Amino acid sequence: MELKNGLSVKNGHLYIADADACALAQKYGTPLYVMNQEHIRKRCRELRGAMDKYCPEGRVMFASKAFMNKAMCRIAASEGLGMDVVSGGELYTALSAGVPADMLELHGNNKTVEEIEMAVKNNIYRIIIDNFDEIDRIKEVAQRLHRTRIPVEIRLRPGIEAHTHEAVQTANLDCKFGFNIASGEAMEAALRLCSDDTFELCGIHCHIGSQIFELAPFAVLCEHFITFADRLRAANGCVLHDFNFGGGFGVWYTQGDAPQELGDYIRIITQTLRELCQKHSYPMPAITVEPGRSIVGEAGVTLYTVGGVKDIPGVRTYVSVDGGMFDNPRCALYGSKYTAVCANKADREHDRVVTVAGKCCESGDLITKDALVPADISTNDILAILTTGAYNYTMASNYNRNGIPAVVLVGCGHEGIIVRRQTYDDLISHDEIPDFL
Ligand SMILES: *Cc1c(COP(=O)(O)O)cnc(C)c1O
Repeated sequence: MELKNGLSVKNGHLYIADADACALAQKYGTPLYVMNQEHIRKRCRELRGAMDKYCPEGRVMFASKAFMNKAMCRIAASEGLGMDVVSGGELYTALSAGVPADMLELHGNNKTVEEIEMAVKNNIYRIIIDNFDEIDRIKEVAQRLHRTRIPVEIRLRPGIEAHTHEAVQTANLDCKFGFNIASGEAMEAALRLCSDDTFELCGIHCHIGSQIFELAPFAVLCEHFITFADRLRAANGCVLHDFNFGGGFGVWYTQGDAPQELGDYIRIITQTLRELCQKHSYPMPAITVEPGRSIVGEAGVTLYTVGGVKDIPGVRTYVSVDGGMFDNPRCALYGSKYTAVCANKADREHDRVVTVAGKCCESGDLITKDALVPADISTNDILAILTTGAYNYTMASNYNRNGIPAVVLVGCGHEGIIVRRQTYDDLISHDEIPDFL
């Protein structure tokens, strides 16, 4: 197997950057999330570099829901990326890590009064407005805090269907996010925001979906944006200076996935937009992108210890590991597939097809179907699942009262824990037994 993304094989062991995966498993225990700092920084630089080349005033906002903790905030900020947060908890984490407020934008389709207050009081860069109720809610908060000209963008729902899993399509008509363009509600919202000095309407936003391998949907989005912006200008003279294209850039999970170069998304967007702006005599806006998966996905590897191998003749072979849907729910949620490498037998032929199962009490608790492993895979082998850097740690739960694994950062000549493993005491630390029991 050809390994990339900072992975290699030495003396039969899998290496992640300069770290021996088997030694990491031994030292920190399993399950273990391993993140390669070198690869995260490389991806940040690919996007930031493309932005500097094609649209220097543009912003790259890391979608923190993909992988969020204080160390990641530090890495993103040090690479010149801002962050997209979608909850008070994410906002609090970013501010606690020292990310400047003017590098933060707040998303979400149901922001609470408390979250809006936190955003306004901290003077974050932008709030991306999702719906009419939210306009009222922000106005209430702003009046109470005696604030005007809150910088906002509105989230549009243009009706674009990207070729990706249904659960991660976010711009088609039947979807909970944003204002519908076709029905006129998006224009109504924009006009309302422009005529109320509580708000400063700075831009428009759309996030098409996730794990998108094509460039074309982003060019289509340019057309929706310029058409909308041009109509708004015709209606009230308001010119928008920012177009925010969301994230969704695809990454490699299994053989056959062919991701684009990250810089190509920026190139296509800016080139298409420049042509359209000329056609419409519209001033070229700055662009924003909000990559999540494409920054951290391929930087992550999860290490498990194999507990046993169960062969059901004529049906399938299950390899059970000491993790499961509590550390990676993506297979259970979306049927996602992953590539496996047996970390202590990494130089052997991986030609046995197995299903990697977790230890939770659900038949659907699988890590992946159809993984290739060495024929002699057995108890106590260390199984590495690749491309688990995005939407694994952040989607983890305590199902079956399993503790959330530790996250260790490797690469760039350093190794260190960035999230401690949950202990049994952590698991009961929020439990209360009231007097009446
Ligand atoms: C999830 C999300 C992103 C990031 O998506 P990726 O596929 O991880 O790049 C960006 N913007 C918004 C609004 C999102 O909801």
